[in-house]
Amino acid sequence: MNCSKCSEKAVFLKPCFCKNHFINYFENKVSNTIKKFSLIDKNDSIVVACSGGKDSTTVLYLLKKLGFNVEALVVDEGIVGYRDKTIVDLKMFCKKFDVKLRIVSFSKSFGKSLDTMLKQKNHPCTICGTFRRYLLNKCASNYDLIATGHNLDDEAQAVLMNLIKSNTELLLRSSPKSQKVEGFVPRIKPLYFCSEKEVAIYALLKNFGVGFTECPYMDGSFRNVVRTALNDYEQNNSCSKLNLINKHLNFLKTFVLERKNFRSCKFCSEPSKESVCKACQIAKSFK
Ligand code: SF4
Repeated sequence: MNCSKCSEKAVFLKPCFCKNHFINYFENKVSNTIKKFSLIDKNDSIVVACSGGKDSTTVLYLLKKLGFNVEALVVDEGIVGYRDKTIVDLKMFCKKFDVKLRIVSFSKSFGKSLDTMLKQKNHPCTICGTFRRYLLNKCASNYDLIATGHNLDDEAQAVLMNLIKSNTELLLRSSPKSQKVEGFVPRIKPLYFCSEKEVAIYALLKNFGVGFTECPYMDGSFRNVVRTALNDYEQNNSCSKLNLINKHLNFLKTFVLERKNFRSCKFCSEPSKESVCKACQIAKSFK
């Protein structure tokens, strides 16, 4: 099949574009998201929460290409055979594109790797998610923004997961830019409207040299159940993920999220709703 804009062979079918037209389409979509939702001011310092995978590497590349002041931060959870490999890819990428990279780890910050923690407790994503969010916010305190690689599929999954679990606060937080709350570095998601497939093709066409492996703990997660269900549904109902996200954003306009009552954790001083933050609670439970 040929591109809908020229006579070149198509590399992507919906929309039907050749390599060059797909790259233009994708980059315009990301630029338009940044403009439409006022994600970034010209002089903002941005740290990209990297994993070494396709999504965050794409964000890092595009923000650098668009001329923003950008650096990379990766959290090494300590997942042998997975994160160690993606970090090798990320180091090579950062060297090639001259981006400053900082690596922080669960081992140094909490005394144990995730693999080791899971010998005691088997809740990988709860532990991992809490510690990752904690470290990202703490290590990004000198930046104006944290950019993440969340794509359309991730966000549609998050909306559905939080609806199913009636987690209203997290549901209201799913948007291209988080609201300003004291103690939290605002987060932006430039790939909010890009599907996982689009990001994968873009990363391949741009030859970023990233792998496409998934975390070995993904299989047993609630997110994976929701992801499979949404992918099945999308097969016969195209644009259902995009429709879900657009409905959600319309719904968000009617709410003002109030995130009050944060205080400082008595152990680490990071913002917390309770006297001891969730990360310190989990870390203490391993001692
Ligand atoms: Fe962490 Fe779970 Fe994601 Fe693996 S799948 S990186 S354990 S949150």
